[in-house]
Amino acid sequence: MNIILLGPPGAGKGTQAHRLVAERSMVQLSTGDMLRAARRSGTEMGKKVAAVMDAGKLVTDEIVIGLIAEQLDNASGAGFIFDGFPRTLAQADALGELLASKGARLDAVVEMQVDDAALVERITGRFTCGECGEGYHDSFKKPAVEGKCDKCGAEGAFKRRPDDTEEALRTRLMAYYKDTSPLIGYYYAKGQLKRIDGLGEIDEVAARISGALAG
Ligand code: AMP
Repeated sequence: MNIILLGPPGAGKGTQAHRLVAERSMVQLSTGDMLRAARRSGTEMGKKVAAVMDAGKLVTDEIVIGLIAEQLDNASGAGFIFDGFPRTLAQADALGELLASKGARLDAVVEMQVDDAALVERITGRFTCGECGEGYHDSFKKPAVEGKCDKCGAEGAFKRRPDDTEEALRTRLMAYYKDTSPLIGYYYAKGQLKRIDGLGEIDEVAARISGALAG
């Protein structure tokens, strides 16, 4: 099964993608994670996209489509979860073509609906463990011992994304409404859209996604 998790920044796409990976052995393809990895390893492309990402703007279609094409060639599993991709109509068309060229297709597009006020709170409070990637939040999910990761035990390894500031979030939200939200109509017209309420506990949202995928 190949699915897209669609929604604004902070909707919980990454969190729910991790759940699906653990529960269904699916493969998460997050262009945001790929771009951050390129930055960390200091590639030419990574240097080129750094300022664009920190400002909350979209990286070019050419770069992200190239990243996805490469991953589709290499990865295998019980299906793909596209997280943060596609973000433009051109990317959506490219994804359709890439999947078709592999004899595969998109099974569902899950739109995670969350209101804007909740997004600001979710995004500006979030941080992750730099060692294992476990996600935390200042209000909703604090580590049991301050400064120490519950999952891997690393101390002093927490980090925040440079684009998780209120200012960059405003730009990211604008990019979402301007460039990405037209995908809702696009996939609705193709009969692939499933809408779920993205507010609530992680388990509740996960159950709604499972229901949408089964239905
Ligand atoms: P994310 O982790 O999905 O929130 O992505 C972080 C940042 O990476 C975005 O704000 C963009 O600058 C860039 N990015 C990630 N995915 C895409 C995409 N599909 N198209 C354009 N830019 C992207």
